[in-house]
Amino acid sequence: MYRIIDAPGVGKQLEILFHNHQIETINDLIFTFPKKYQSFKEDALLFAIDKTEVTVTGQLIDIPKIVNHRGTLKSVQFKLLVDNEVIKVIAYRREYLKESMTEHMTLTVKGKYEKKKRLITAQAVLLKPLETELKPIYQLDGIYDTTISKIVKKILDQQLVVINDDLPKVLVNKHHLMSKEEMVKTLHLPSSDERLVEALKRLKYEEALRFQYKMMYQKVHHELIFKKPKKYDLEQVKLFIQDIPFELTQDQKETVNDLFRDFKKNYPARRLIQGDVGSGKTIVVGIGVMGAKSAGYQSALMAPTEILAMQHYQFFKNALKNLNICLLTGSTKKKKELKEQIKHGVYDFVIGTHALVTDDVIFKNLGFVIIDEQHRFGVETRETLKEKGNADVVYLSATPIPRTLAIVLFGDMEVSIIKEKPIGRKEIITRYLSDQQLPSVFQHVNKELEKGNKAYFIAPSIESEERGTNVFSLFEEVQAAFSKYTVIMLHGKQSALEKQQAMEDFYQIKSSILVSTSVVEVGLDVKEATIMVITGAKYFGVSQLHQLRGRVGRSDVQSFCYVLSDESDIDRLQYFSKTSDGFQLSEYDLSKRGPGEFLGVRQSGSLRFEYADLGSDFDVFLKAKQDALWLLSNEKENQYYLNYQKLDLDET
Ligand code: ADP
Ligand code: MG
Repeated sequence: MYRIIDAPGVGKQLEILFHNHQIETINDLIFTFPKKYQSFKEDALLFAIDKTEVTVTGQLIDIPKIVNHRGTLKSVQFKLLVDNEVIKVIAYRREYLKESMTEHMTLTVKGKYEKKKRLITAQAVLLKPLETELKPIYQLDGIYDTTISKIVKKILDQQLVVINDDLPKVLVNKHHLMSKEEMVKTLHLPSSDERLVEALKRLKYEEALRFQYKMMYQKVHHELIFKKPKKYDLEQVKLFIQDIPFELTQDQKETVNDLFRDFKKNYPARRLIQGDVGSGKTIVVGIGVMGAKSAGYQSALMAPTEILAMQHYQFFKNALKNLNICLLTGSTKKKKELKEQIKHGVYDFVIGTHALVTDDVIFKNLGFVIIDEQHRFGVETRETLKEKGNADVVYLSATPIPRTLAIVLFGDMEVSIIKEKPIGRKEIITRYLSDQQLPSVFQHVNKELEKGNKAYFIAPSIESEERGTNVFSLFEEVQAAFSKYTVIMLHGKQSALEKQQAMEDFYQIKSSILVSTSVVEVGLDVKEATIMVITGAKYFGVSQLHQLRGRVGRSDVQSFCYVLSDESDIDRLQYFSKTSDGFQLSEYDLSKRGPGEFLGVRQSGSLRFEYADLGSDFDVFLKAKQDALWLLSNEKENQYYLNYQKLDLDET
């Protein structure tokens, strides 16, 4: 392989500059694609819209004039013959150009076009005709784009690199993709918009395929692990369901069915249960725990925080009265004894935090694992838990993810969706107000506190001054206004213990107020909290606002949510205040803010896409998913693909 110094036109100095960008060989350079392209595409004047920017090339007719305007302002004015039409051009402050203009020369002009007057007010006048319409922008610090283009062109012209096609022919033909060589050439030296689009199409597809391949590889290999199908007692489960004091929603019933189908599989299932806040995921997995128990298995639930573990423990002790349930968290006393008992199968259901996996907990017969609010867990935690047996695993997520995205992001799992809310739920009354109306919101909060209820105040940041209200200044403001009541602060820079204490206090103390950043988002269930005030609301996505709003409305008492912001984001916040469906809001976020909002939902480095866009190239990801499965089932083609792709197949 040639070193970069061997490339035509590269000397010592350029070598160093390329080295700074990790470009060491000619190959490295050829596979460093432009970040974007600047377009000098010419417009057809006939179709140009009045008063928009156009780029045209034409021939100079007559002699340019210099015109004096007010003060020292001058302009050069001339006539161009463009598509058989005479266009007048004015270029202010470009009077010096006149000297360089020669009779009948060809000029390119970019500027605002006034159709009726046939006039272009030029921002740019190019005296040399352009070589290409599309100028590649590489964004390599210290190196001119034109320099790179020249070197790349020479390398390609002299055929100093061999570009093999790294995709099986079948796939190239199936999707009518350019050959690899053609793609590389086109990306560096695009001959037209159309060709560039074709080249990008292949580039995006390649990226999507790499991603889906890794995911499907995980899935296929996972399904080869053997698990004994669970023989649960259906009658017993039915009796249990009959005893639940409410009727399950249709979505809940279907999800319960999904869980029991998983039990019957001969490989450990991995399922994501997505439900809107308050849609009732907990009871659904409770039924699963019952089923596992009837088949002779233990279950385990992991929550992201001690508070949430405790919350679940209290709920399940009440809901699953016939089961032996224990709580195992960092602060559990007599851990050793408890672990001994878990090992001997004394407990049917172990509820806990991280301690559950990081410590040396051994189960007698673990069959069902629930991971609550799964986006808070890193990959490692999940892997450790998996090692504890061939259990069926469900991940619970309260962040509604647009359906399309879920298919891609969680392609290696089955997905159940609980959309419906239980009947009779009171809608949270939501109002969008301007920052200035905080005092009137205080009055409402005061009324709620007088009734013994609790309130949340949310700030978008911890310290940043630029972001308006930060949690400290909000805390001071709230404390001053509510001196009679306990005001508690919670934010991400506190220690785990401080956070724990803050949430504990908010649970325990009547009529208290929690001033917090968005760390409070996940799962916290304080029944007496009836009013949520979100300041600086424009800094949150509507999905995130919805999560925050879900902290109130946790009983049959009417709850309220105020979103406060300056006047800059009215439409979005008004939409939020009128919409209570989390899935609808997530679609809205996807369309307005792109998929970035949801990528955090799945913590994984492999989700940063360079070329493909999860929002607009969704169909590419779907095709790639099919193709990945095809590759994995086709020995020869799979080998061909893997020979070229350096895929790190161990990461999830
Ligand atoms: P989430 O999905 O946000 O975790 P939970 O599971 O905590 O929601 O459920 C919220 C509340 O709704 C709980 O008090 C639960 O008992 C109740 N609930 C769940 N399903 C139903 C239903 N079908 N009908 C009435 N209430 C229900
Ligand atoms: Mg929950």
